[in-house]
Amino acid sequence: MPNQQPGFSTLAVHAGAAPDPTTGARATPIYQTTSFVFENADHAAALFGLQQFGNIYTRITNPTQAVLEERVAALEGGAAALAVASGHAAQLLAFNAIMQPGDNFVAARKLYGGSINQFGHAFKNFDWHVRWADTANTASFEAGIDERTRAIFIESLANPGGTFVDIAAIAEVAHRHGLPLIVDNTMASPYLVRPLEHGADIVIHSLTKFLGGHGNSMGGIIVDGGTFDWSASGNYPALSQPRPEYGGVVLHQAFGNIAFAIATRVLGLRDLGPAISPFNAFMILTGIETLPLRMQKHSENALAVANWLKGHPKVGWVSYAGLEDDPNYELQQRYSPKGAGAVFTFGLKGGYEAGKTFVESLQLFSHLANIGDTRSLVIHPASTTHRQLTEDQLVAAGAGPDVVRLSVGIEDAADIIADLDQALSKV
Ligand SMILES: *Cc1c(COP(=O)(O)O)cnc(C)c1O
Repeated sequence: MPNQQPGFSTLAVHAGAAPDPTTGARATPIYQTTSFVFENADHAAALFGLQQFGNIYTRITNPTQAVLEERVAALEGGAAALAVASGHAAQLLAFNAIMQPGDNFVAARKLYGGSINQFGHAFKNFDWHVRWADTANTASFEAGIDERTRAIFIESLANPGGTFVDIAAIAEVAHRHGLPLIVDNTMASPYLVRPLEHGADIVIHSLTKFLGGHGNSMGGIIVDGGTFDWSASGNYPALSQPRPEYGGVVLHQAFGNIAFAIATRVLGLRDLGPAISPFNAFMILTGIETLPLRMQKHSENALAVANWLKGHPKVGWVSYAGLEDDPNYELQQRYSPKGAGAVFTFGLKGGYEAGKTFVESLQLFSHLANIGDTRSLVIHPASTTHRQLTEDQLVAAGAGPDVVRLSVGIEDAADIIADLDQALSKV
């Protein structure tokens, strides 16, 4: 590059990639191989002992995966990254590097439903415990902290409601207690919000959503901000104590500011195994090239749709942080001035039955449980993802009987609105 820092759109296309040294291929090849030939026995020994970086086996590293890791690390402004099979795998490996049995972490209550299940149920089997806090109340995070707390976890833009969170205020609480702040940045993507710039220490993504962007490949990633001091307390032994499986190496001493990323790979991915396939890494890399264009269009379309819905007589309320009269507008302007993203909720005056009829009447929108596709998506949580809850529980989860969630795609806004209009006329 000429002597200037590349901008975000340039990084989205180029970061981590170069023409293939062997063939000259310009696009990153899909290195569809399980294993890599050693130069000689000493080379093999150095790789296994962590004295030298290099490829051994695709469960641990792969060149296509490595380009994806460098690219997302660059987009987030992080030091290093680890790509894995899904967003949930990313969360599992991030906590695996810092939690011992009996430890706990404090998490925002407003999270992706799958994360609420993973933290509240599956993690209990590891004797890891979650304490819920109120996203809008910074003091409630502090109230959950005790001597066994090892991290704070939030979403920058909370799923499903599409509300922005005061990352800097929660980072301040975490750091005052010597804890890292982990931010799930899936809904915003680094194009809209870069949590590391606001004090986060670790960023997680479900690559399945906006980064891949086309609804065709599962993936997840952990980005190490490179700033947290893992040796300041004795609370992160996986990073600050000798590792018996690697000849007594202390990861934080050996790897400095990328020690956490290394731990998620050489302790987590190696032993627990949720590797991303080279093909999925390639698909997601290709998706990332157009991330800035897509996020801008998603946000513009969502704002147009939210404004239109607000004026519709069958719509009771619209909750979109990009609307000037929304209670979340000030935080959106502060953290995400380029736009408010694709996902938001609104309420139908006709309640549960209206929600079902509406969803079944849509034609351009697909009725399914995903977000962040080029296509417009819809779900009526009360009759699908949240159907086991009582009416009171539905309301508390932000999934009352009248609530519809949209993930607005990148089609023409006029066509998206026309589809909503004809479906509302059936309600
Ligand atoms: C989808 C999602 C996840 C989980 O990711 P998977 O790739 O489905 O495992 C985590 N967090 C958020 C905000 C999500 O939307």
